[in-house]
Amino acid sequence: MARIHHRSIRSCWGLVAVGLVLVGGSQAFGQRWISGIPWSEPPTVQPGDNFGPPSDAIILFDGDNLDAWEGGDQWELKDGYAIAQKRTIQTKQHFGDVQLHVEFASPSEVRGRGQGRGNSGVFLMGRYEVQILDSWENETYFEGQAASIYNQAPPLVNASRPPGQWQTLQILFTAPRFDDDGELESPAYITVLHNGVLVQYNWEIQGVTYFNRPPDYQAHGKGPITLQHHGDPVKFRNIWVREIALTPGVHPPEEAEPETAEPAPEEADPEAEPEAPEAEDEAEDEDTNT
Ligand code: MG
Repeated sequence: MARIHHRSIRSCWGLVAVGLVLVGGSQAFGQRWISGIPWSEPPTVQPGDNFGPPSDAIILFDGDNLDAWEGGDQWELKDGYAIAQKRTIQTKQHFGDVQLHVEFASPSEVRGRGQGRGNSGVFLMGRYEVQILDSWENETYFEGQAASIYNQAPPLVNASRPPGQWQTLQILFTAPRFDDDGELESPAYITVLHNGVLVQYNWEIQGVTYFNRPPDYQAHGKGPITLQHHGDPVKFRNIWVREIALTPGVHPPEEAEPETAEPAPEEADPEAEPEAPEAEDEAEDEDTNT
């Protein structure tokens, strides 16, 4: 009896195994779902070593000169790095959406405290500041410490290195969009890694990062990358930028003009159309409340 019982269990497992193969097989050999979006082939880029610029980067400073910067001749060049002095400098070229790499070092000789210690900053589009500060054992308001979005958002963590050590800022920035009337269509967004640590994650920038008044947006086109001189001899090296160009084909054509995109007769849904404007109104209300 026991042997028969074991045999029937074995044959049961055999059936289960055959079933699994059939089910798994139908997935393994099925056809790939295709979105229909005509993607372009992504360009090939040679990555850099040790934070060096990738092959398609625009070099803003490689240690030789600051020719890419208005006012760059006012800063001191020494041993392959630049030292902030006299004035704020900005790139001659203007940018929108970017990946930006900057390395900096707070002055080795610690002077001052709070905002008066190793202060500089990287401004996107000349307006939106990622704060540079010596935040190693240096108290200040959180939304003004190193890697904050100045006066808007503290960093998620304080990833600062001690004074004198080289530090990295890796910035992913989405520029704000404005319509033809100069109204804000979508705000700027920013992600920042400080020394490889995530400190700003897709933060919605509230507007220009003022010191003495609330942020606001005023319509503008592309803008420069700005390095602040705030009175402290902060050092910089290895600065490069990549303009972000979304892979062609990413936007389905039917999303380009919502007003003219009438559904095909067989897809028409009488309840679908009224919902869309309501959703847009809600989004606008949220924007004005932030
Ligand atoms: Mg600053």
